[in-house]
Amino acid sequence: MSTRESATQPPTLLQSLSPRGNEATVKTSAELDLMWEAGQIVGKTHLVLRKALRAGMTTHELDAVAEREIRGMGATPAFKGYHGFPATLCVSINDEIVHGIPGGRVIEEGDVVSLDLGAVVGGLYGDAAISVAVGAATDEVKRLLETGEGSLYAGIKEARAGNRIGDVSSAVERHVLSCGAYGIVRGYVGHGIGRQLHEAPSVPNFGRPGRGPAIREGMALAIEPMVNLGGDDTDVLEDGWTVVTADGSPSVHFEHTVLITDGEPIVTTRVAGEQG
Ligand code: MG
Repeated sequence: MSTRESATQPPTLLQSLSPRGNEATVKTSAELDLMWEAGQIVGKTHLVLRKALRAGMTTHELDAVAEREIRGMGATPAFKGYHGFPATLCVSINDEIVHGIPGGRVIEEGDVVSLDLGAVVGGLYGDAAISVAVGAATDEVKRLLETGEGSLYAGIKEARAGNRIGDVSSAVERHVLSCGAYGIVRGYVGHGIGRQLHEAPSVPNFGRPGRGPAIREGMALAIEPMVNLGGDDTDVLEDGWTVVTADGSPSVHFEHTVLITDGEPIVTTRVAGEQG
Protein backbone atom coordinates (compact mmCIF):
# COMPACT_ATOMS: atom_id res chain seq x y z
CA MET A 1 0.00 0.00 0.00
CA SER A 2 1.35 3.42 -0.87
CA THR A 3 1.35 6.54 1.22
CA ARG A 4 0.03 9.90 0.20
CA GLU A 5 2.47 12.71 -0.56
CA SER A 6 0.60 15.54 1.17
CA ALA A 7 1.93 18.49 -0.80
CA THR A 8 0.73 17.38 -4.19
CA GLN A 9 -2.88 16.26 -3.75
CA PRO A 10 -6.08 17.89 -2.55
CA PRO A 11 -7.22 16.79 0.92
CA THR A 12 -9.10 13.49 0.97
CA LEU A 13 -9.60 10.62 3.36
CA LEU A 14 -6.21 9.45 2.20
CA GLN A 15 -4.58 12.30 4.10
CA SER A 16 -4.53 9.99 7.09
CA LEU A 17 -2.20 7.69 5.17
CA SER A 18 0.75 10.04 5.66
CA PRO A 19 3.61 8.25 7.42
CA ARG A 20 3.99 8.66 11.18
CA GLY A 21 7.02 10.44 12.59
CA ASN A 22 9.91 12.09 10.81
CA GLU A 23 12.68 9.66 11.60
CA ALA A 24 13.25 6.29 9.99
CA THR A 25 13.38 3.46 12.52
CA VAL A 26 16.38 1.14 12.72
CA LYS A 27 15.37 -2.45 13.44
CA THR A 28 16.89 -4.99 15.77
CA SER A 29 17.94 -8.32 14.28
CA ALA A 30 14.90 -9.94 15.97
CA GLU A 31 12.64 -7.39 14.25
CA LEU A 32 14.35 -7.99 10.90
CA ASP A 33 13.71 -11.74 11.29
CA LEU A 34 9.99 -11.07 11.79
CA MET A 35 9.98 -8.70 8.79
CA TRP A 36 11.50 -11.50 6.72
CA GLU A 37 8.74 -13.88 7.87
CA ALA A 38 6.01 -11.34 7.13
CA GLY A 39 7.53 -10.59 3.73
CA GLN A 40 7.74 -14.26 2.75
CA ILE A 41 4.06 -14.70 3.60
CA VAL A 42 3.24 -11.73 1.36
CA GLY A 43 5.34 -13.19 -1.47
CA LYS A 44 3.82 -16.65 -1.16
CA THR A 45 0.34 -15.14 -1.17
CA HIS A 46 1.18 -13.30 -4.39
CA LEU A 47 2.23 -16.59 -6.01
CA VAL A 48 -1.12 -18.15 -5.08
CA LEU A 49 -2.99 -15.09 -6.38
CA ARG A 50 -1.10 -15.20 -9.69
CA LYS A 51 -2.28 -18.78 -10.19
CA ALA A 52 -5.85 -18.01 -9.10
CA LEU A 53 -6.28 -14.88 -11.22
CA ARG A 54 -8.50 -15.45 -14.26
CA ALA A 55 -11.19 -13.73 -16.28
CA GLY A 56 -14.68 -14.29 -14.86
CA MET A 57 -13.82 -14.14 -11.18
CA THR A 58 -14.72 -11.23 -8.96
CA THR A 59 -12.23 -9.07 -7.11
CA HIS A 60 -13.90 -10.18 -3.88
CA GLU A 61 -12.99 -13.80 -4.69
CA LEU A 62 -9.33 -12.75 -5.03
CA ASP A 63 -9.55 -10.95 -1.71
CA ALA A 64 -10.91 -14.09 -0.05
CA VAL A 65 -7.99 -16.13 -1.43
CA ALA A 66 -5.51 -13.58 -0.08
CA GLU A 67 -7.05 -13.49 3.38
CA ARG A 68 -7.23 -17.29 3.61
CA GLU A 69 -3.56 -17.65 2.60
CA ILE A 70 -2.26 -14.99 4.98
CA ARG A 71 -4.23 -16.29 7.96
CA GLY A 72 -3.39 -19.90 7.03
CA MET A 73 0.32 -19.06 7.36
CA GLY A 74 -0.27 -17.62 10.83
CA ALA A 75 -0.12 -13.92 9.90
CA THR A 76 -2.66 -11.09 9.97
CA PRO A 77 -3.72 -9.07 6.90
CA ALA A 78 -2.08 -5.64 7.22
CA PHE A 79 -4.58 -3.57 5.25
CA LYS A 80 -7.89 -4.83 6.66
CA GLY A 81 -9.15 -2.08 8.97
CA TYR A 82 -6.15 0.17 8.23
CA HIS A 83 -7.72 3.65 8.43
CA GLY A 84 -10.98 1.86 7.66
CA PHE A 85 -9.84 0.01 4.51
CA PRO A 86 -12.35 -2.85 4.30
CA ALA A 87 -10.32 -5.67 2.73
CA THR A 88 -7.11 -7.72 2.77
CA LEU A 89 -6.19 -6.88 -0.80
CA CYS A 90 -6.09 -3.70 -2.86
CA VAL A 91 -7.22 -4.68 -6.37
CA SER A 92 -6.66 -1.90 -8.89
CA ILE A 93 -7.72 -2.59 -12.49
CA ASN A 94 -6.65 -0.76 -15.69
CA ASP A 95 -6.92 3.00 -15.00
CA GLU A 96 -7.04 2.33 -11.25
CA ILE A 97 -3.57 2.97 -9.86
CA VAL A 98 -3.73 1.91 -6.21
CA HIS A 99 -6.10 1.27 -3.27
CA GLY A 100 -8.95 -0.30 -5.29
CA ILE A 101 -11.51 -1.97 -3.00
CA PRO A 102 -12.46 -5.58 -3.78
CA GLY A 103 -16.13 -6.26 -4.49
CA GLY A 104 -18.43 -7.58 -7.19
CA ARG A 105 -16.42 -6.36 -10.19
CA VAL A 106 -15.74 -9.20 -12.60
CA ILE A 107 -12.23 -9.43 -14.01
CA GLU A 108 -12.14 -9.47 -17.80
CA GLU A 109 -9.75 -10.79 -20.41
CA GLY A 110 -7.15 -8.11 -21.14
CA ASP A 111 -7.46 -6.35 -17.78
CA VAL A 112 -4.27 -5.13 -16.11
CA VAL A 113 -4.69 -6.03 -12.45
CA SER A 114 -2.59 -4.72 -9.57
CA LEU A 115 -2.66 -6.83 -6.41
CA ASP A 116 -1.28 -5.04 -3.34
CA LEU A 117 -1.21 -6.77 0.04
CA GLY A 118 0.47 -6.71 3.39
CA ALA A 119 0.93 -9.11 6.31
CA VAL A 120 1.88 -8.67 9.96
CA VAL A 121 3.91 -11.20 11.98
CA GLY A 122 4.73 -10.46 15.61
CA GLY A 123 3.90 -6.79 15.05
CA LEU A 124 6.23 -6.39 12.04
CA TYR A 125 5.02 -5.67 8.50
CA GLY A 126 5.62 -6.81 4.94
CA ASP A 127 4.05 -4.94 1.98
CA ALA A 128 4.25 -5.72 -1.76
CA ALA A 129 2.37 -5.34 -5.02
CA ILE A 130 2.42 -7.02 -8.42
CA SER A 131 0.66 -6.10 -11.64
CA VAL A 132 -0.46 -8.79 -14.06
CA ALA A 133 -2.23 -8.80 -17.43
CA VAL A 134 -5.15 -11.25 -17.57
CA GLY A 135 -4.88 -13.32 -20.74
CA ALA A 136 -3.30 -11.80 -23.83
CA ALA A 137 -1.82 -8.33 -23.35
CA THR A 138 -1.12 -5.77 -26.07
CA ASP A 139 2.55 -4.98 -26.76
CA GLU A 140 1.92 -1.54 -25.25
CA VAL A 141 0.73 -3.07 -21.99
CA LYS A 142 3.56 -5.65 -21.95
CA ARG A 143 6.08 -2.81 -22.22
CA LEU A 144 4.29 -0.87 -19.47
CA LEU A 145 4.47 -3.92 -17.17
CA GLU A 146 8.18 -4.47 -17.96
CA THR A 147 8.89 -0.79 -17.36
CA GLY A 148 7.13 -0.74 -14.00
CA GLU A 149 8.81 -3.90 -12.72
CA GLY A 150 12.20 -2.85 -14.11
CA SER A 151 11.95 0.50 -12.33
CA LEU A 152 11.28 -1.25 -9.01
CA TYR A 153 14.48 -3.28 -9.37
CA ALA A 154 16.43 -0.19 -10.47
CA GLY A 155 15.33 1.46 -7.22
CA ILE A 156 16.10 -1.60 -5.09
CA LYS A 157 19.69 -1.62 -6.40
CA GLU A 158 20.23 1.80 -4.83
CA ALA A 159 18.71 0.84 -1.46
CA ARG A 160 22.08 0.61 0.26
CA ALA A 161 23.62 2.03 3.43
CA GLY A 162 25.48 5.22 2.57
CA ASN A 163 23.08 6.20 -0.21
CA ARG A 164 20.20 8.66 0.15
CA ILE A 165 16.51 8.25 -0.65
CA GLY A 166 17.05 10.48 -3.70
CA ASP A 167 19.36 7.82 -5.14
CA VAL A 168 16.51 5.29 -5.02
CA SER A 169 13.96 7.81 -6.32
CA SER A 170 16.07 9.00 -9.22
CA ALA A 171 16.98 5.44 -10.23
CA VAL A 172 13.27 4.58 -10.48
CA GLU A 173 12.58 7.74 -12.46
CA ARG A 174 15.54 7.35 -14.82
CA HIS A 175 14.60 3.75 -15.57
CA VAL A 176 11.00 4.68 -16.42
CA LEU A 177 11.98 7.62 -18.61
CA SER A 178 14.61 5.52 -20.41
CA CYS A 179 11.77 3.19 -21.45
CA GLY A 180 9.42 5.81 -22.88
CA ALA A 181 7.14 8.80 -22.25
CA TYR A 182 5.32 7.28 -19.28
CA GLY A 183 3.64 9.14 -16.43
CA ILE A 184 5.25 8.56 -13.03
CA VAL A 185 2.71 9.03 -10.24
CA ARG A 186 3.95 11.76 -7.90
CA GLY A 187 1.10 12.07 -5.39
CA TYR A 188 1.59 8.60 -3.89
CA VAL A 189 4.92 7.27 -2.77
CA GLY A 190 6.78 4.42 -1.08
CA HIS A 191 7.65 4.53 2.61
CA GLY A 192 9.61 3.24 5.54
CA ILE A 193 8.08 0.15 7.14
CA GLY A 194 8.52 -1.81 10.36
CA ARG A 195 6.24 -1.79 13.39
CA GLN A 196 3.96 0.50 11.36
CA LEU A 197 2.81 -0.09 7.80
CA HIS A 198 3.76 3.46 6.87
CA GLU A 199 6.81 5.00 8.53
CA ALA A 200 9.29 7.70 7.58
CA PRO A 201 10.92 8.29 5.20
CA SER A 202 8.73 8.84 2.15
CA VAL A 203 10.22 7.17 -0.92
CA PRO A 204 9.11 9.13 -4.02
CA ASN A 205 9.45 7.64 -7.48
CA PHE A 206 11.20 10.74 -8.81
CA GLY A 207 14.00 12.85 -7.41
CA ARG A 208 17.63 13.81 -7.47
CA PRO A 209 20.63 11.63 -6.62
CA GLY A 210 22.39 12.51 -3.37
CA ARG A 211 19.33 14.26 -1.89
CA GLY A 212 16.91 13.28 0.84
CA PRO A 213 17.23 11.25 4.04
CA ALA A 214 20.30 9.04 4.52
CA ILE A 215 19.79 5.27 4.14
CA ARG A 216 21.26 3.33 7.04
CA GLU A 217 21.78 -0.32 7.89
CA GLY A 218 18.77 -1.74 9.75
CA MET A 219 16.22 0.47 7.98
CA ALA A 220 13.43 -1.07 5.91
CA LEU A 221 11.80 0.52 2.87
CA ALA A 222 8.73 -0.27 0.79
CA ILE A 223 9.67 0.86 -2.72
CA GLU A 224 6.65 1.06 -5.03
CA PRO A 225 6.69 2.73 -8.44
CA MET A 226 3.29 3.53 -10.00
CA VAL A 227 3.65 4.05 -13.75
CA ASN A 228 0.95 5.24 -16.17
CA LEU A 229 0.72 4.73 -19.91
CA GLY A 230 -0.48 8.35 -20.13
CA GLY A 231 0.06 11.39 -17.92
CA ASP A 232 0.88 11.50 -14.22
CA ASP A 233 -2.28 13.29 -12.97
CA THR A 234 -4.51 11.33 -10.59
CA ASP A 235 -8.04 11.49 -9.15
CA VAL A 236 -9.69 9.70 -6.24
CA LEU A 237 -13.05 7.98 -6.78
CA GLU A 238 -16.08 8.71 -4.58
CA ASP A 239 -15.29 5.69 -2.40
CA GLY A 240 -12.50 7.84 -0.96
CA TRP A 241 -9.86 5.19 -1.66
CA THR A 242 -9.48 4.22 -5.31
CA VAL A 243 -6.81 6.32 -7.02
CA VAL A 244 -7.21 6.51 -10.81
CA THR A 245 -5.35 8.13 -13.69
CA ALA A 246 -6.96 11.45 -14.60
CA ASP A 247 -6.73 10.66 -18.32
CA GLY A 248 -8.09 7.10 -18.03
CA SER A 249 -4.86 5.50 -19.20
CA PRO A 250 -3.82 2.13 -17.73
CA SER A 251 -1.41 2.07 -14.82
CA VAL A 252 0.85 -0.53 -13.19
CA HIS A 253 2.17 -0.79 -9.63
CA PHE A 254 5.06 -2.92 -8.36
CA GLU A 255 6.27 -2.99 -4.77
CA HIS A 256 8.71 -4.86 -2.56
CA THR A 257 9.73 -4.50 1.07
CA VAL A 258 13.52 -4.20 1.31
CA LEU A 259 15.87 -4.49 4.32
CA ILE A 260 19.00 -2.34 4.30
CA THR A 261 22.17 -4.27 5.18
CA ASP A 262 25.89 -3.55 5.06
CA GLY A 263 25.85 -5.06 1.56
CA GLU A 264 23.13 -6.11 -0.87
CA PRO A 265 19.55 -5.21 0.12
CA ILE A 266 17.36 -8.13 1.23
CA VAL A 267 13.99 -8.26 -0.57
CA THR A 268 11.71 -9.81 2.08
CA THR A 269 8.68 -10.10 -0.21
CA ARG A 270 10.42 -11.98 -3.05
CA VAL A 271 10.06 -15.76 -2.93
CA ALA A 272 11.54 -18.59 -4.98
CA GLY A 273 9.56 -18.98 -8.20
CA GLU A 274 8.76 -15.31 -8.62
CA GLN A 275 9.77 -13.49 -11.78
CA GLY A 276 12.17 -10.56 -11.61
MG1 MG B 1 3.42 0.19 0.42
